[in-house]
Amino acid sequence: MPMAERPYIVGNWKMNGTRAMLSEARAIDRAAQRYMKVEVAIAPPFTLIHAVHREAEQIGVGAQNCFHGPEGAHTGDISASMVADSGAKFVILGHSERRIDHGESAELINRKIDSALEAGLRIILCCGESFETRDAGRAEEFVLDQLRASLPDISDAAERLSVAYEPVWAIGTGRTATTDDIAAMHAAIRGLLDEKYGPETSANIRILYGGSVKPENAREILSTPEVGGALVGGASLSAESFLGIVVGASETEDA
Ligand code: PEP
Repeated sequence: MPMAERPYIVGNWKMNGTRAMLSEARAIDRAAQRYMKVEVAIAPPFTLIHAVHREAEQIGVGAQNCFHGPEGAHTGDISASMVADSGAKFVILGHSERRIDHGESAELINRKIDSALEAGLRIILCCGESFETRDAGRAEEFVLDQLRASLPDISDAAERLSVAYEPVWAIGTGRTATTDDIAAMHAAIRGLLDEKYGPETSANIRILYGGSVKPENAREILSTPEVGGALVGGASLSAESFLGIVVGASETEDA
């Protein structure tokens, strides 16, 4: 099955996890071997990437961020090539917690994407509107502007790109967007990707949904048109709940 057709389920552990969590990663990895029609990955904190990479036989391992420059005097930062060297195969960029807590602009995210591509990494580019923006009826315009300012220009980069639509008000809140809203936003994002890269290239880019995805709602969300997978925060921290989402993905028509 071509890569872009498999549902892609990615756990974002955020600032959670010490070596004690390696047993969860191992459990996720071993169970994922039973669901080969689903592509499963986790992004642990930097400190665990190498250890999870060594444990992982089936799942992909990635980072949650990287610096935009190659190397040098940047205390506390981690470059894309260091991320790749630690065993990561992808990096999440533009997460709303980075945009909001660290003031990351779309332009900075675009530079990080270039660095990550240069280092050979795949990318999950996050976008999403605040509740105020949705309430003002400007969600689509806002998300498409965020993407226009960050998407890489080169179309062969598209092969290594996924986009994650994550309404900020749905992250970690237990609230999810309705499947109609998700379908409408994903269709708008697909329209932009078609316009930028052409439909053939765009078809290789999966659009994930993120925001309080759990075992109970995974199947419905993942069956929504244009939803190619899920970016999962809280529910990825235990193998049991994360695997419940993987099972939901395996039951969709695309799997
Ligand atoms: C996220 O932060 O990417 C996320 C979707 O978090 P949660 O699943 O906890 O809402």
